[in-house]
Amino acid sequence: SGRRSWSAVDQYLAATLVGEDTALAEGRRAAHAAGLPGIEVSAAQGKLLMLLARLVGARKVLEIGTLGGYSTTWLARALPEDGEVVTCEYEPHHADVARENLARAGVADRVSVRVGPALETLPRLAAEEAGPFDLVFIDADKENNRNYVEWALKLSRRGTVIIVDNVVRGGAVLQADLPDADPEAAAVRGTRDALALLGADRRLDATAVQTVGAKGWDGFAIAVVK
Ligand code: SAM
Repeated sequence: SGRRSWSAVDQYLAATLVGEDTALAEGRRAAHAAGLPGIEVSAAQGKLLMLLARLVGARKVLEIGTLGGYSTTWLARALPEDGEVVTCEYEPHHADVARENLARAGVADRVSVRVGPALETLPRLAAEEAGPFDLVFIDADKENNRNYVEWALKLSRRGTVIIVDNVVRGGAVLQADLPDADPEAAAVRGTRDALALLGADRRLDATAVQTVGAKGWDGFAIAVVK
């Protein structure tokens, strides 16, 4: 019953506070209809990303893991007219769906979707001097979370905010020694490595917050570059 009430409370909070508009709701539906997994952030989390981007006055945002562009849309809406989100996506089909959704939401002109493995795109962004980014949202293949935090640092400046999603994983993050065969093993290892780096690197100040809601029991880490 816990999980059911978490979802009900999320719906109540979303209806009362969040104001997800039809473009965002349609985008979510279109992504599911196109066969994409329903693993986008919740409406309340998407709004939180938007508010954080506003709080830091972000003009340039880097996202790793686009899916159908749901979180991308929230982030893009935080930006001024000349702002930009660069978002990295491995699956060309996801990127196509995202581009349609971003156009529907009226933010396509502010978003550049870069298709390919993020570990190939990120060095390219560095070579292009695309940074520094004001906010980085990491939400892709969790086994690479530590690599993504390292790239976020390379593409950041003092004051950049780095957010890592899904760091609690229903409590599985405690299980340091899952056997390789366990489907959670690589994600847990990558997440623990990322959290260890966030905690130990002297260039970063970090915390993490556990969350419950429509997405079950999870949490996000947030760090500021010193
Ligand atoms: N941020 C999205 C949202 O909240 O709307 C959800 C992103 S989903 C959790 C993760 C995405 O990362 C998937 O679309 C997946 O295809 C993509 N992905 C997986 N491995 C990747 C990689 N190596 N490089 C870039 N993207 C990757």
